[in-house]
Amino acid sequence: TDLLSTRVKALELPMTIEMSKKSRELAAKGIDVISLSLGEPDFDTPDFIKEAAIQGIRDNYSHYMPVPGYNDLREAIAGKFKRDNNLEYGIDQIVVSTGAKQTLANLMLSLIEPGDDVIVPAPYWVSYVGMIEFCEGNPVVIPTTVESGFRITPEQLEAAITPKTKLMVFSSPNNPSGAMYSQEDLEGIAAVLRNHPDVFIISDEIYEHIRYTTDHVSIASIEGMYDRTATVNGLSKGFAMTGWRIGYMGCPAWLAKACDKIQSQFTSGTSSISQRAAIAAVAAKPSEVQYMVDAFASRRKLMIETFGTLPGFVTRNPDGAFYMFADITALLGKKFGDVVIENDLDLSMYFLTEGHVSSVPGSAFGLPGHVRFSYAASEEDLKEAHRRLENAINQLS
Ligand code: PLP
Repeated sequence: TDLLSTRVKALELPMTIEMSKKSRELAAKGIDVISLSLGEPDFDTPDFIKEAAIQGIRDNYSHYMPVPGYNDLREAIAGKFKRDNNLEYGIDQIVVSTGAKQTLANLMLSLIEPGDDVIVPAPYWVSYVGMIEFCEGNPVVIPTTVESGFRITPEQLEAAITPKTKLMVFSSPNNPSGAMYSQEDLEGIAAVLRNHPDVFIISDEIYEHIRYTTDHVSIASIEGMYDRTATVNGLSKGFAMTGWRIGYMGCPAWLAKACDKIQSQFTSGTSSISQRAAIAAVAAKPSEVQYMVDAFASRRKLMIETFGTLPGFVTRNPDGAFYMFADITALLGKKFGDVVIENDLDLSMYFLTEGHVSSVPGSAFGLPGHVRFSYAASEEDLKEAHRRLENAINQLS
């Protein structure tokens, strides 16, 4: 290991690894574990998108492509930003990457200097902090609570900004809480940021299409924010395309150019076939994929009625994405036999070993005292998982 760089030695594996290892061990013993720990839709990619990929193969899209993406794909993305987000981006402001994950990595590598403060509201998506630290930035985590709807307030943001603050990274709809920032919430955040013109914003909108209660608003569409925001999106969640690896963003041209430069040295453009498929997906009306959102909406209702009323759980109805994030502090300190459930990791592990339901502890998302359950699963599985969890909780004393 002495050959490894300090950089990579400091990089942590996501906390979910231990859980999935245990989960596999139980499955190998023939125990049927209900997996509610995954962050991916349980649907297949829609046929019209698969057809576009097949056509791309027939048309010999088998060569190197422009690094930031085919022009016709970037034009389709520009059309999508205009149609759904009221944002005007030229194709020189758009970069397509190998998943939103690479989009985010490009942005962090382009923007963060060693020692820069980066504001991250918690709960946050696991990889933000890993990436920030890899870039030698300093994550400044702002915690939220179930009572605040898992959203930061303008006052919290103001208090977190220092002269070293370079960037703020957040997702709405949020993974893991399902919270969404309304127009009014974003106006409040923008009002603070207007007094701090050097703070850039990365707005991760990958769950945009999966929402139930309110409209989605892009912070870049709020007055004064366009020139200082990268609007990140992708096809993994809304189009059930996790394996195709398409992420994209719109941002100021100087930043798109920097991301293009990084990508050209490290990976080149993302898969040509995936890009041909992506044109069909982004050009399609959101109504084409509404059937998936409808299924998630019906499971969400079930989750609110079942998981939402589990003893010791305090939850908030998710506005978007497909997760329920429960405050489980009331269960901490309880015992199973002689074993004390000390924290969210213990509880999540207990749910797995005794309840045979996998989940992800809130610590993985920077908010201990919580557990995340994905409802990208069948209603039958969700009902059975609820029954098992209720039983497991009732065995605690
Ligand atoms: N952003 C958020 C909030 C996510 O939940 C995910 C996936 O879990 C991603 C980004 C990355 O998505 P992908 O790299 O598949 O586009």
